[in-house]
Amino acid sequence: MAIKSAFPDVFIPDESLAEFVFDKARDYGDRTALVNGTTEEIVTYSQFRQYVIAIGSGLLRHGVKQGDIVAMYSTNSPEFAMMFFGALAMGATVTMVNPLYTADELERQLNDSTASFIFTNGELSHNVRKAVKQIPTMKAIFSLGLCEGFIAFQSLCEDDGSLLDAPRHMPSSSVAVLPYSSGTTGLSKGVMLTHRNLVGNILQYSYNQFVVDPKPHADVMLGLLPFFHSFGMTATMCVGMALGVKVVTMAKYEPQRMLYLVEKYKITILQAVPPIVLFLAKSESVSKYNLSSLRVIQSGAAPLGSDTEQEVMKRLPTCVVIQGYGLTETSPACFMAPKNLIKPGSIGVLCPNTEAKIVDPETRSTVGPGIEGEVCLRGSQIMKGYFNNTVATAASIDTDGWFSTGDLGYYDDDKHFFIVDRLKELIKYKGYQVAPAELEALLVAHPSIEDAAVIGVPHEEEGEYPKAYVVLKPGHEVSKADIITHVNSKLASFKHIRAGVEFLREIPKSNSGKILRRKLRVHAKKQLQSK
Ligand code: AMP
Repeated sequence: MAIKSAFPDVFIPDESLAEFVFDKARDYGDRTALVNGTTEEIVTYSQFRQYVIAIGSGLLRHGVKQGDIVAMYSTNSPEFAMMFFGALAMGATVTMVNPLYTADELERQLNDSTASFIFTNGELSHNVRKAVKQIPTMKAIFSLGLCEGFIAFQSLCEDDGSLLDAPRHMPSSSVAVLPYSSGTTGLSKGVMLTHRNLVGNILQYSYNQFVVDPKPHADVMLGLLPFFHSFGMTATMCVGMALGVKVVTMAKYEPQRMLYLVEKYKITILQAVPPIVLFLAKSESVSKYNLSSLRVIQSGAAPLGSDTEQEVMKRLPTCVVIQGYGLTETSPACFMAPKNLIKPGSIGVLCPNTEAKIVDPETRSTVGPGIEGEVCLRGSQIMKGYFNNTVATAASIDTDGWFSTGDLGYYDDDKHFFIVDRLKELIKYKGYQVAPAELEALLVAHPSIEDAAVIGVPHEEEGEYPKAYVVLKPGHEVSKADIITHVNSKLASFKHIRAGVEFLREIPKSNSGKILRRKLRVHAKKQLQSK
């Protein structure tokens, strides 16, 4: 039987994401919206609204048209948020690119998403120049900081706003953002999130029966999770701006800086990934700062042990540590911790407007409480589909609208949900997605490699490390170190093969040729135990 959220549906207005946020921001006047955690410069809500219009108008002046895809390849900053909403306000779709990506990885996403404009920050300009050489359809590059040949972001901010009165109304089913995710299998794909998906998810995430329940003027969030990823994009940037929260941005995670900013800006809501929560549980430096402003730490994007939750709560007694759960494909929030009952290790209860069922992975029949199976979800936050990929869309969303997450979980008698394992290929390193298919493709491109498979092996502090299993071509010899260099040199560092290479005589496969990853995982587990 499917489980429906215990909460009544929230009403999702027929507004575009930019309209929704812009209208809400009017209520917050001259209060601080954004603080740059590096320079400590601030942007008020009224300035934020002015910039959104100026940037939207400036983009129109530079030839960006409604429906164009604007890529954002940048670290977090107040300008990221301004550009994001400015582009949405004039009717563009935004595709966010991981700023850790190499030029090749950037080029792939620019091509796949059909982006014709890019926003970047100065330090990444080298990669942008390299990537766009291969993309003749790229029309303009906007850059934060002066970069030769690029249009200065500042000039967008100084636009007189005459080409845009207010954020444009867009059909709620049109695509607002196009983040990338590999989903259950294969390479990274564009995830079409609509205006309705995201306006709805802001309301679902900030529902007043959940622990997070952000309050205008009272709450301060640290914009530490990257805004290119759905957790940071929706839960910090969009919820923050729509709910009148002060958001302090961090361009990159530095533990000491995080502690300093929490103390200085009296951060109340810290959204984090498990390695950061682990740091708060273990590090000596935590006791050197006054972190008593924190009322909630929410971990997501990967599993967090309940012991770690408890350890942090012991050290920070004013603060509750909870988990949230979601996927890029679900905008992301689907489960949140409710105020009335927090259970250690749980991802919480269903968000409003959301249903779940747990399905036996073999028989696909729905199972009851206490029984593990694949978590399937249905609700207003489920993506429209994968961009230009009807096959992958049909494989993940069935004709009744049920989305298969590829995660193994169960629920208890109180309808609290727990995630126990991942059925899908995806590897998560510090919350970042690593698609085995991408590493496998690089491995088999090596002249001495016949076949290869990559799995994630658990790592206590950092989630999972990719491990490669390799079959060499007959008569070929190559060292493990050379194989690692061959792969790692082409990828962003978070995708690197960290758990080494093992040679096999053959890769275990099913009759249909699918890699039997579970066999490899069992093999890796045995090896770890025997160490
Ligand atoms: P992403 O699309 O990068 O957000 O990745 C989504 C995946 O992250 C999910 O399918 C899960 O495998 C994992 N994930 C997210 N939140 C949690 C959580 N609280 N506990 C365990 N795994 C999680």
